[in-house]
Amino acid sequence: MQNVQHLNLDPMRKDQISWRTRQGVDTVFATSTAWEDIRMIQDDVPWANVVWFPQAIPRHAFLMWLIVNRKLKTQDIMSRWNSMGNANFNLMCCSLCTIGPDSHEHLFFECAYASSVWEGVRDRAGMAAIQHNWNDIVTL
Ligand SMILES: [Zn+2]
Repeated sequence: MQNVQHLNLDPMRKDQISWRTRQGVDTVFATSTAWEDIRMIQDDVPWANVVWFPQAIPRHAFLMWLIVNRKLKTQDIMSRWNSMGNANFNLMCCSLCTIGPDSHEHLFFECAYASSVWEGVRDRAGMAAIQHNWNDIVTL
């Protein structure tokens, strides 16, 4: 038998969507409350403040998230997807220096052009002691 307590309809009362939280508390529905209930909660990653901060541009934050997780579609990663073996990845090269295929490390540190940009930014940002790798940068 169903619980009839919730079937008390009052035509004078405006309909309202309610949400029962993980703790069993009935509240007025809000997407933020639902999100907090359905998402998997984990500890903050050490680079969270590098990627997400109040003035962050969402597109840049998303790209930074891809970079930190090594998920950019770089040529070294795309060459691993080639299951048919009919693509010539020897023709791929870094668009900044045209020397060899690009990778995360090449795009930001090994490429001569990118490295000169990084060193300029690093010095202006007062990060001269930071080495040429992402782990040192994102764990500041
Ligand atoms: Zn390059």
